[in-house]
Amino acid sequence: MALRFPIYLDNHATTPLDPRVLEAMLPYFTEKFGNSASRQHQFGWEAEAAVELARKQIANLINANPKEIIFTSGATESINLALKGIAFAYSEKGKHIITTQIEHKATLDTCKRLEKFGFKVDYVPVDKHGLVDPDEIKKRITSETILVSVIFANNEIGTIEPIEEIGRICSEFGVLFHVDAAQALGKIPIDVQKLNIDLMSMSAHKLYGPKGVGALFIKKKTPKIKIIPIIDGGGHEGGLRSGTLNVPGIVGFGKACEIAGLEMSEESERIKKLRDKLQDGIMSSLEDVYLNGHPTLRLPNNLNLSFDGVESEAILMGMKEIAVSTGSACSSASVEKSHVLKAIGLNDDLIAGAIRFGLGRFNTEEEIDYTINRVVEVVEHLRKISPKYKLKKEMSKT
Ligand SMILES: *Cc1c(COP(=O)(O)O)cnc(C)c1O
Repeated sequence: MALRFPIYLDNHATTPLDPRVLEAMLPYFTEKFGNSASRQHQFGWEAEAAVELARKQIANLINANPKEIIFTSGATESINLALKGIAFAYSEKGKHIITTQIEHKATLDTCKRLEKFGFKVDYVPVDKHGLVDPDEIKKRITSETILVSVIFANNEIGTIEPIEEIGRICSEFGVLFHVDAAQALGKIPIDVQKLNIDLMSMSAHKLYGPKGVGALFIKKKTPKIKIIPIIDGGGHEGGLRSGTLNVPGIVGFGKACEIAGLEMSEESERIKKLRDKLQDGIMSSLEDVYLNGHPTLRLPNNLNLSFDGVESEAILMGMKEIAVSTGSACSSASVEKSHVLKAIGLNDDLIAGAIRFGLGRFNTEEEIDYTINRVVEVVEHLRKISPKYKLKKEMSKT
């Protein structure tokens, strides 16, 4: 098959819509346009049935009960609802929250906001691979702690956190546990029961579904988890998230989860092979390239590399037909250095030379072969014209 340009290797930022998902959504834009809250007629019933099917499909993928799924506009909103909702519901019990230094901005900025409201937040450090030590969380739990929030798999370096162990600690101490699973959902198996997860944020557009729809899993348990809603209105979603539901988006999210459940294991295998080929192809042809993230406990589609002596922006300029990103998509809107790469201890040069490759369902082996060649070519060229890199190489020889 002929290569089509540009090649999309930024699947952590967003994924293309799967054509099967689009097909499932289409009728809900046209003839099945009903409001799922309309209880008096066929149009409403049809929409409601579609929403309830999607709720089931999402619940199935994570071993939850459909009643435990609340629809939102995406993981950012889910995270806000979980963190603020818990914080304000439990502030009488305590005002202490524990999270990590490598969370998505949706979590970090929400925590910053809560700090302004008098909450105290601990940001637990990670090791050089981006792993959180569960004991570091345990050490920080006090009688004031109301919530622990940890990212399942990091969006920049792909590191998969020890969620099961952290879940066990939280349940042992009776502290609520929220997980940001935006990157992990549909890429690795998730069982919210086995992992002792109380709340989990998810997003459709990271697993080949549409943008602008997500969900929050809230465990049904006794005592009941209390959440103060952020959006008040018609009392939709059990009063936790008012507003007419995005029916086509929700249908697409459900379909995307169904497909992921059926195809995840085979797909992960295939994508991991391509990712490993990309990694080996680049690292065997170039010196001074470093892997960021955990060598094995990493999402199968993630490859984050630092190219010493070159600026990642220059690499991107040199291969404009390949869509990758430098650090996280969200922090590149503002020009600050990746907080994740800082947290794993990279020096400024290696942060400046970092590129994130995010593989996905629609990448082919030809695209990976092409990318290997282009990366090697561009980096070799940039190093040849870099006096700094040449000087460094000469210094290291003597
Ligand atoms: C994309 C992402 C989010 C935000 O999700 P949206 O649905 O785009 O709001 C949160 N956390 C992680 C880890 C992500 O990758």
